[in-house]
Amino acid sequence: MVVVMQEGATEEEVQYVINRLMGMGFDIHRSTGARHTVLGAVGAKVDFDTRDIELLGGVEEVLRITAPYKLASRHFRPEGTIVTLGRGIAIGGEELVVMAGPCSVESAEQIDTIAASVAASGARILRGGAFKPRTSPYSFQGIGQQGLQLLRQAGDKHNLSVVSEVMDHTQIPQMIDYVDMLQVGARNMQNYNLLKELGKVAKPVLLKRGISATIEELLLSAEYIMAGGNYNVVLCERGIRTFDSYLRNTLDIAAIPVIKKLSHLPIVVDPSHGTGLRDKVAPMARAAVAAGADGLLIEVHNDPEKALSDGAQSLFPEQFEKLMKELRVIAPAVSRRL
Ligand code: PEP
Ligand code: MN
Repeated sequence: MVVVMQEGATEEEVQYVINRLMGMGFDIHRSTGARHTVLGAVGAKVDFDTRDIELLGGVEEVLRITAPYKLASRHFRPEGTIVTLGRGIAIGGEELVVMAGPCSVESAEQIDTIAASVAASGARILRGGAFKPRTSPYSFQGIGQQGLQLLRQAGDKHNLSVVSEVMDHTQIPQMIDYVDMLQVGARNMQNYNLLKELGKVAKPVLLKRGISATIEELLLSAEYIMAGGNYNVVLCERGIRTFDSYLRNTLDIAAIPVIKKLSHLPIVVDPSHGTGLRDKVAPMARAAVAAGADGLLIEVHNDPEKALSDGAQSLFPEQFEKLMKELRVIAPAVSRRL
């Protein structure tokens, strides 16, 4: 349930409502917006009568939310959420935020070369996996902890924030000092132990949609993180498995406006995993921006043909540079800037 307080409701009125709801057994998550205070009440009883709250002083509206997620719902923060990462980076605002880099961190030289080129093209966040969730146990598994150090160094050198994937909750302590944002991969979207632990972390989380996950399941996974107290969640559409087998995945562009309506959380798009083929990445990136995405996650490699993972879907630096130029033309048409 979401309680929207009237504009100008007094602190006493807000506290009175909070106390009443807590007395009824609800957990309260308060959001103070520019004009309205909004209270998210979690743990609703089935026989609860919303009128008991509606008639309290200072209450504007009580919304019983039929969706099973509450904190991730648009009702909770109608104005939308902006997730900040330092270096002036804000995801969900007017600026489109592009995260780019290799699938995997491979060596100091590789990550430094790629960081230099994506930074020069206008990316704000450097991506790179150190712990890799590979479909086959015989595929390259990432270089681990050393990869995080190299990612951090390259990010700092080229004024980029960094994001890397956490595969298991036991990896959080060894990652937390190296990354600005923790990525939950598609395969781990429903790793509930991991999501619960990320709820306690003071860093933003990039939550990727599971390979066969519905939008509601994605939002429920975000809810797990938020219920633990971490509201800095950025969603990522990265393609889902459908009956079509031509591409690696089917990128669900329509998920962008759907999620924008259902949730206040920012949503970015990963056209690299979404298509699996380099020549399909730019068209889908352009479409994602036109459809209202808050940013992009794109694989770029200085020598994709020799990449240790996902070379076929990684852009050459020149292709990334060209794409960024195109996006700068599209962005203003949808009231964004890059
Ligand atoms: C990745 O971004 O490197 C990755 C493994 O993506 P996904 O979890 O979407 O497959
Ligand atoms: Mn990859």
